[in-house]
Amino acid sequence: LNNFPYKNVLVLGLAKSGIATCQVLLRNGLNVTANDLKADLSNPELIKLKEQGVQITVGEHPLSLLDGIDLVIKSPGIPYHNELISNALDRNIPVRTEIELLSYLISQPVIGITGSNGKTTTTMLIDDILSNSKMKSRVAGNIGTVAVEVAEQLQEDETLVLELSSFQLMGIDHFSPKVSVLLNLFEAHLDYHGDFNNYQEAKAMIFNQQTEADYLVYNADDPRVCQLIQSAKATLVPFSIKDKQLEGAWVDEQYVYFKDQQIIKLTDIRLVGEHNLANCLASIAASLLVGANLEGINQTLTTFAGVRHRLQFVTERNGRQFYNDSKATNILATSKALASFKQPTMLIAGGLDRGNAFDDLVPFLTNVKGMFLYGETASKLAEAAHKAGVEIIEQAETLDQMVHAAYAASENGDVILLSPACASWDQFKTFEERGDMFIELVHTL
Ligand code: ADP
Repeated sequence: LNNFPYKNVLVLGLAKSGIATCQVLLRNGLNVTANDLKADLSNPELIKLKEQGVQITVGEHPLSLLDGIDLVIKSPGIPYHNELISNALDRNIPVRTEIELLSYLISQPVIGITGSNGKTTTTMLIDDILSNSKMKSRVAGNIGTVAVEVAEQLQEDETLVLELSSFQLMGIDHFSPKVSVLLNLFEAHLDYHGDFNNYQEAKAMIFNQQTEADYLVYNADDPRVCQLIQSAKATLVPFSIKDKQLEGAWVDEQYVYFKDQQIIKLTDIRLVGEHNLANCLASIAASLLVGANLEGINQTLTTFAGVRHRLQFVTERNGRQFYNDSKATNILATSKALASFKQPTMLIAGGLDRGNAFDDLVPFLTNVKGMFLYGETASKLAEAAHKAGVEIIEQAETLDQMVHAAYAASENGDVILLSPACASWDQFKTFEERGDMFIELVHTL
């Protein structure tokens, strides 16, 4: 940690990132205290921290924990109205997330990606383009690998591709990426941020510390994004799936361009859906700005079939294309998936019943030839299917039965799509487990 101005640090939240943060701080000779309401003190990693001199309290967080502390690093999920946090702020103790430590840890280029939707897809696309361009890169952050841990091991010639949530961004002050990517702004996480304005301000923190020498890749099709970036000092690099962009990435009927350079034919892009085209444009712009090349972009875009469980192409069998969109746990996500296909679609859906109706799905069912419904919501989804005049409607208990039924009812040229529009918890532990099961079933057909 170079020029780190703090000595006594309180780490709040002892999950993966909190533990890694403690370790980094210890290695840099700081005094570390840690607290978590629920952590299990028999966890070997916590035992090790204790042996290394970290004072850990669990089960309560008395305000005295803040005595003598000059920095709090909190887990992104802990809300600001938490008593300890608001007390720290009252005492003018800075409250940050581990992301802030990166500015003292590394000088290698960082590409930071944020937005309401598409972060993981874009992060993985950029990482893949860089490696296909024979550049070295690592991914970290919200995507699942702890940022400080990856940063500490980052080699001199590596670029860090960092997925950033609004929760993580709230806790930064110095940290600033070389290239920021702002994908879109929808109403999200308002329970945490209080209102949309606060949410936008959190997202703006990705570019607040940038200078002219840095770049901000932004979605020129999103009016809220365009409004927000007015205050940015970085060099602006727009992307748009609607209008020509002299300074950024754009498309005509046939090709993708960066500025005036033709990059790739639209029909060569493997990912489906307009939202994914936007993600591709953002990824092309960001990776070119750090030195990627056309071969790398081409190799990635012609082969990248989607992040697992997010409108992921699974396989083609007897002319039927199978897609796994298990991450779609609500109507909005499923409608996006349906809008991504021109082919007749066999939709497999269903899952946990949250008490809502599925009327909002009806307008998106025009291309849907068959609906194969299972789980708690099967009959509610069937009502929507009837309203939309869907030709084939089948219901059963399990996903397994519906995969077989959809295949049996399908024809050459159809898409068979799992996009459940519901959470998975009535029959699966996670949406990942549901998607894995689907992939397995498809391969046994
Ligand atoms: P995140 O990491 O931000 O949650 P993902 O890349 O995991 O985003 O995608 C999650 C879902 O969000 C996708 O299945 C899709 O329904 C939707 N999505 C992805 N990219 C976009 C986009 N650019 N605009 C709108 N929706 C998107």
